[in-house]
Amino acid sequence: MTQPRRRSEATYTGLRCRECGHPYEATAHHVCSEVCFGPLEVVYDMERIKARVSRAAIEAGPLSIWRYRDFLPVDHDPIDVGTGLTPLLRANRLARRLGLKRLYIKNDGVNMPTLSFKDRVVSVALTRARELGFTTVSCASTGNLANSTAAIASHAGMRCCVFIPADLEAGKVLGTLVYNPTLMAVEGNYDQVNRLCCEVANSHGWGFVNINLRPYYSEGSKTLAFEVAEQLGWRLPDHVVAPLASGSLYTKICKGFREFVEAGLVEEKPIRFSGAQAEGCSPIAQAFDAGRDFIAPVKPDTIAKSIAIGNPADGLYALDVARQSGGSITAVSDAEIVSAIKLLAETEGIFTETAGGTTIAVLKKLAESGKIHPDETTVAYITGNGLKTAEAVNDVVGAPFRIDARLDSFNQAWAKASGQTTAGTSPAT
Ligand SMILES: *Cc1c(COP(=O)(O)O)cnc(C)c1O
Ligand SMILES: [Zn+2]
Repeated sequence: MTQPRRRSEATYTGLRCRECGHPYEATAHHVCSEVCFGPLEVVYDMERIKARVSRAAIEAGPLSIWRYRDFLPVDHDPIDVGTGLTPLLRANRLARRLGLKRLYIKNDGVNMPTLSFKDRVVSVALTRARELGFTTVSCASTGNLANSTAAIASHAGMRCCVFIPADLEAGKVLGTLVYNPTLMAVEGNYDQVNRLCCEVANSHGWGFVNINLRPYYSEGSKTLAFEVAEQLGWRLPDHVVAPLASGSLYTKICKGFREFVEAGLVEEKPIRFSGAQAEGCSPIAQAFDAGRDFIAPVKPDTIAKSIAIGNPADGLYALDVARQSGGSITAVSDAEIVSAIKLLAETEGIFTETAGGTTIAVLKKLAESGKIHPDETTVAYITGNGLKTAEAVNDVVGAPFRIDARLDSFNQAWAKASGQTTAGTSPAT
């Protein structure tokens, strides 16, 4: 902590245990090792933030997550690869299909540089890693995090070694390898990969974005809330639907909205937080359903690999958010996930990966069971891009018509296609 600008510019003051409040220096440290082994979180000086931020200043800021820099735990010039400011799309055709009136899609499937929300958390984590003097960075990943860490490490000129379960989708593996990191494909599921990485972090002194840098990393997810509030015209939504793996993103969206209220940027109002998991890996949804105050770890078995964490680090905090906000955490089947990927594509022109399919499938369930009121301003968070999980939909998207380069050949195929469309599920409305 020798950076001279830290004290004059930073709005954060250090770390603190989320459970017992014990203070820690802002180093690469994520558990309360001195007292209770609870997770550490960043502490801010909210008065300082309040004195500094305004709607106008944010609007005049960079066209990336770094326009919210006063709410993020960094000291110096951030690594800005254009992450954030993804579209918030008014989804009228999907809304009509679901019987809703004010539905928005926050589309992080087109986030930069690697087409998932993970670019947000990695931009923050690697900025902090560089400030702390790390030259090698790493992560335990379900796929998207490896893509993002490898890409942004390349941009920042950092050495990178990332760990994934060996059975990931081809697009996720390719989308890591192209940046030429060292990629370890581990025989085992994510939770086993994560355990190995904790040992490597201890023995190698690397910066692991989601282990020893986790307090900084997780703050990046707040920008998903900041952007939505700004894009809604400096207003909060009524209802949010988001996917859960570790539960970090889901809880940090809640924290982000709260900080905007505290900073006086938006007016307070109640927001319900609904969470989405895949049935094949739904430890948080199961605890919610059973009214339990503990998470029973599970062994993942689902096509939604990017959110397949069987022992979720932030599961209990996610349960609190769901319960205190009057929301819920719901699980859907792999078949429902696939249908929902197609539904979103056919109604809104957005191709999401399996995690986004999980979110839309849960949105559909909640809308159909009346748990989302039609008039609520509802935001569904799409967190990843469908081209990375082609395997999930390969068998359900049909095939092109193969025709000769002749008008009669085309006409024949077109007649057949027109017949198919009338019988299909997507009337042109
Ligand atoms: C990692 C991931 C999530 C959820 O992450 P949390 O661990 O809950 O923060 C959601 N969607 C996608 C596409 C992801 O890659
Ligand atoms: Zn503690």
